[in-house]
Amino acid sequence: VKKIAVFTSGGDAPGMNAALRAVVRTASYYNIECYGVREGYNGLINDDFTRMGPRSVKNIITEGGTILKSARSLEFKTKEGRQKAYENCVKRGIDGMVCIGGDGTFRGAEVFNKEYGIKVIGVPGTIDNDIFGTDNTIGYDTALNTAMEAIDKIRDTATSHNRIFFVEVMGRDAGFIALNSGLATGAIGILIPEKKDSIEDLFTRFERAEKAGKASSIVVVAEGEKLGSIYDIAKATQAGFPDYDIRVAILGHIQRGGSPSCADRVLASRLGYGAVIGLMDGKTNMMAGMQSNKLTFTSIDEAIKKHNEMDQELLKISEILAI
Ligand code: ADP
Repeated sequence: VKKIAVFTSGGDAPGMNAALRAVVRTASYYNIECYGVREGYNGLINDDFTRMGPRSVKNIITEGGTILKSARSLEFKTKEGRQKAYENCVKRGIDGMVCIGGDGTFRGAEVFNKEYGIKVIGVPGTIDNDIFGTDNTIGYDTALNTAMEAIDKIRDTATSHNRIFFVEVMGRDAGFIALNSGLATGAIGILIPEKKDSIEDLFTRFERAEKAGKASSIVVVAEGEKLGSIYDIAKATQAGFPDYDIRVAILGHIQRGGSPSCADRVLASRLGYGAVIGLMDGKTNMMAGMQSNKLTFTSIDEAIKKHNEMDQELLKISEILAI
């Protein structure tokens, strides 16, 4: 490859800037011309390319969000939109692309590659950790720590008032943030879409906690929980335990922001570097990932279709330790 384009797309995640920095600097090191595209696929369509050199990414490793901005592009889902994007790539002689984003972004990249043949490597950037072919996605560790710190603070006020808090964390259809932040904060219950939860089981936990003398409790609920919305679950609990003082807290978008953790900066650096190396090796339609501390490449098709299994032992540990 001689000229590559790099962009961030879909939901933003802390560490995307660190990944961008790694792509730009690795490309520069190997004398590959690099263009940053603003606002994901919209920038490809609207011809919003900027030549990026090593100094253009200075001081961004510490910054959350993405300096290239991200977008959801409806136009790229149309043939006409992708045709425009291709023409802009041809105009500049772009022969490789690195797309930093989640599964939607990868799906778009795969379609584009199949139609026009420009080589593409994906870098998994999403707080949800819902992508196969990497142990962790970029942004997940930072989001986990943000959730943990927020839940710790909620616990302080829960304890002061003998309250039960239901706390919703992000993760879309995946319960990774919920399980890990729940375990790390000693939640009495963790409700995630990957296991079959029941209100009876939750009630049993409350009864057990009461007998053990617990006056306050935290239940962490994944946003994709199938039992119902967090408000429904809180309401059902209130009906079962009329004396409880119950509150609901939804952590929301604070989980997507903030300076990336050390683990996310290192992961982003390794994957950004890996993506450029992959393109240089002639790889395409692959995602760079880290598995057991090794750089790996997984086909985008697999990365999208398969799912990381929830660690059953971790689930068990969270239940054993919550008594
Ligand atoms: P994420 O990458 O975080 O999963 P989205 O699901 O919003 O975010 O996907 C990002 C963008 O990828 C979409 O806005 C769209 O432009 C593009 N995309 C997603 N699916 C397709 C598809 N099937 N064909 C073409 N482009 C797609």
